[in-house]
Amino acid sequence: MAKDGFLTAKAIGNRIKAKGLQKLRWYCQICEKQCRDENGFKCHCASESHQRKILLVAESPEKYVNDYSAEFLKDFMKLLSTRYGTRRVNANLVYQEFIADRTHLHMNATKWATLSEFTMHLGKEGLAIVDETPKGWFMQWIDNSPKTLARQEAIAKKERMELDDEQREQRLIQQQIDKALALKQQQDEADGVTTELVRENEEEKIKLDISIKPVGLTGGLGGGGIKLGGGGLLKPKSLNALAAKKTNPFSSKSASTPSATTVSGNGAAASAVTSSAPTKKRSPVEEIMEREMAKKKRLEELNNSSSGRSATQQPEPEKERSRDSSRDDRDRDHRSSHDSRDIRDTRDREREHDRERDRDYRSSRDDRDDRDRDYRSSRDSRDDRDRDYRSSRDDRDRESYRSSRDSRDDRDRGREYGSSSRDSRSDRDHRDRERDRDSSYRDRGRD
Ligand SMILES: [Zn+2]
Repeated sequence: MAKDGFLTAKAIGNRIKAKGLQKLRWYCQICEKQCRDENGFKCHCASESHQRKILLVAESPEKYVNDYSAEFLKDFMKLLSTRYGTRRVNANLVYQEFIADRTHLHMNATKWATLSEFTMHLGKEGLAIVDETPKGWFMQWIDNSPKTLARQEAIAKKERMELDDEQREQRLIQQQIDKALALKQQQDEADGVTTELVRENEEEKIKLDISIKPVGLTGGLGGGGIKLGGGGLLKPKSLNALAAKKTNPFSSKSASTPSATTVSGNGAAASAVTSSAPTKKRSPVEEIMEREMAKKKRLEELNNSSSGRSATQQPEPEKERSRDSSRDDRDRDHRSSHDSRDIRDTRDREREHDRERDRDYRSSRDDRDDRDRDYRSSRDSRDDRDRDYRSSRDDRDRESYRSSRDSRDDRDRGREYGSSSRDSRSDRDHRDRERDRDSSYRDRGRD
């Protein structure tokens, strides 16, 4: 029983002796048995069980070696990947850790005779990046797991897409730049005819038509080129068309009109000023400007006519008209101010109304509060009255009870004296009953 027990002296001794690393060449992988010395190994090889297993292996040694090799490789790679990841590490260090496990598959059973051979095999199979240094072989695991590959693929795809986006953007910007350049060239060609500043008579003033050209044909494309979409490119074209239609501001015709001087922010307003051009939609500002111009023109004509012809020929109607127009203006101003006053009045009235409603509400609330207070006080007084009534009633009850009791006692006493102890027990019972009734009545009265 104790012969092959775990705690026998012999078993313990064997375990102590078997501690630590022992020689690889006295290890039998087939029997998974480590022998401690030459003699022990020889004895093991001569043993019957070992002989039987050797015979089995001898039938197909290739198969056994390949199986052992595959297992060794698998275990080794597992250690390398989990312990070191994709770091570069000394092969011998990994091997030391590998054989630290006593039950590891020993290398002498594999097809690799040495660690260097095994390391080179890893490099050849593409399982690790290996390189030889004076300090020995180094290896670096290559992560080929499907998960990692998928992740890498996703990252690569994303990068590719970003690159595509950038290229597309660049192409778009380049196209816009090309278009804008072509447009500018056209415009330059159209504006190519320059005229001299010629004054026909001395009294005329020189008027400049300064209209700011839309910026950003080329300058605006630098940074935020993408934001300047198709619409941004179409706008200059239409402006260009308007500019081509515009009359030359320095010609005599337009110089005689006193309205050519406009400095305006946008080209549309400038086009509206040249009144010959048909305008579809006019903003209020443009309308006002036009009216002003007409007025000025009239004044100018008036002056011209008065200076040209006899001085007092026809100033009256002109003046009348101008006065009319000015009166109209005043009327309109007055009317608009009147309108605004009306609006203000109605608003004031509304506000007043609101205020009144507020006041009403507040006063009604106050009233309600007063009523509440009155009710409460009246309730209190009623309570007082109740209490008074109750106490008075109690007093009355008590008085009447006391007097009745006294008279009864007197009667009893008299009866006792008259008939000495006759039927005294029944009498006492009767008295007790009466007293009980009295007490119950008293209780009821208190309630
Ligand atoms: Zn063996």
